[in-house]
Amino acid sequence: KIRVRYAPSPTGHLHIGNARTALFNYLFARHNKGTFVLRIEDTDTKRNIADGERSQMDNLEWLGIDWDEGPDKPGKYGPYRQSERKDIYQPLIQELLDKDLAYYSYMTEEELEAQREEQKANGEAPRYVYEYEGMSAEEIKQVQQERQAKGIKPVVRIRVPQGKTYEWDDIVKGKISFLSDTIGGDFVIQKRDGMPTYNFAVVVDDHMMEITHVLRGDDHVANTPKQLAVYEAFGWQAPEFGHMSLIINTETGKKLSKRDETVLQFIEQYRELGYLPDAMFNFITLLGWSPVGEDEIFTKQQFIKMFDPNRLSKSPAAFDGKKLEWINNQYVKDAKEDDVMDSALKQLIKAGKIQEDPDAMTIAWARKLISLYKNQMSYTGQIVEMADVFFNEPPVLSEDAKAELADESAKTVIEAFAKKVQDLPIFDSVEIQATIKAIQKETKIKGRQLFMPIRIATTREMHGPELAPSIELLGRKKALEHVKKTLE
Ligand code: GLU
Repeated sequence: KIRVRYAPSPTGHLHIGNARTALFNYLFARHNKGTFVLRIEDTDTKRNIADGERSQMDNLEWLGIDWDEGPDKPGKYGPYRQSERKDIYQPLIQELLDKDLAYYSYMTEEELEAQREEQKANGEAPRYVYEYEGMSAEEIKQVQQERQAKGIKPVVRIRVPQGKTYEWDDIVKGKISFLSDTIGGDFVIQKRDGMPTYNFAVVVDDHMMEITHVLRGDDHVANTPKQLAVYEAFGWQAPEFGHMSLIINTETGKKLSKRDETVLQFIEQYRELGYLPDAMFNFITLLGWSPVGEDEIFTKQQFIKMFDPNRLSKSPAAFDGKKLEWINNQYVKDAKEDDVMDSALKQLIKAGKIQEDPDAMTIAWARKLISLYKNQMSYTGQIVEMADVFFNEPPVLSEDAKAELADESAKTVIEAFAKKVQDLPIFDSVEIQATIKAIQKETKIKGRQLFMPIRIATTREMHGPELAPSIELLGRKKALEHVKKTLE
């Protein structure tokens, strides 16, 4: 039975890269009717942020990712927060100490730093050098007591055997091996504050929670040999590992890093802009994974059915913001009218274009506006800019627009239009359409030469959604103001 997990550290909000890890684990679990576990890795207390856990869970839920066991869904493998599992780690660390597979290390941070500096100066890779080299058990005890008396707090280090090879058959990358001598020496499994380190706790938890497959980002490749050393010390069988390729920002050609400001990286930010969760889910699934064939738009159920971890790509995944917009636009076009309405209306309110708690008339107007722009939006936040002309002073005409109006016939059309709409008994799209038809009849001007001047004069733009409904939504007053300004 397949059991996988997503194990965020609550040190920040849900990042695209982490969301991808969560999503692939989720798809893998669902495809195999396995179990998806959410585990909070919060042992680095200094780096945790106040609402980190809540925010991670919130954004996963928004994306449509649910879990079977987690801090809010107790199961038989709990607790699911590492900070609540100290009683589980403690005896296991003691067990390694008792078997002399681990030991107390009293080197101070300053000493360790000096050691690294020296190694660097000699052109060597930094590593911990066994501090009790050549000492008898008696001598070791004595050194430790002296240090203890000075108030130095020890860490616990696990012994890493020399000359050993750690290897595994990575689901994504194939065979990977590390020589034990290159992983930095005996590493810390318990910090000075008594908390286990990530590399220790993750092994204990994955083992205790009976995790069968570990799918995670390839920034963890170098941790895997250390984790294998811990599995080995306990004589436990390690799960299968798969390390997903890194994500490259197509904009910069560089690895997507949290410092990269050319692209939004947190799910929350997309959510705020009015991206649709199903579209985000679709986009993220294609970051380093591809289905058979050319199609790219699939529902969650289809992805679950198709998901095969062997199709995770070895080469870096391309994060392409344009593609994200394209995918979202596909979803917005197909979305239920109401979903887009709610989201876009919120955007207009947030931007201060429409007052909070709008009255029925405003809502009716906004609904028309939103449906006018629906097919053009990649995300509903775009409505604010797209529909700018409905809320602001008439925009300045572009040079191209001015050129369109240079013709004498343009003036004729605009003047006729202004005169006729002034007197319209009902100012709606049907009447406006009829008016435009009437002008065509009278002036014999048609096609682009008829529509473009009217479009520019009323909306002050050369492009936009359907003309007559746009003019209706502008309202008679605003439409005529714009026309007047255009004729000045
Ligand atoms: N807490 C680790 C992280 O956020 C999890 C790594 C793992 O999946 O083992 O990167």
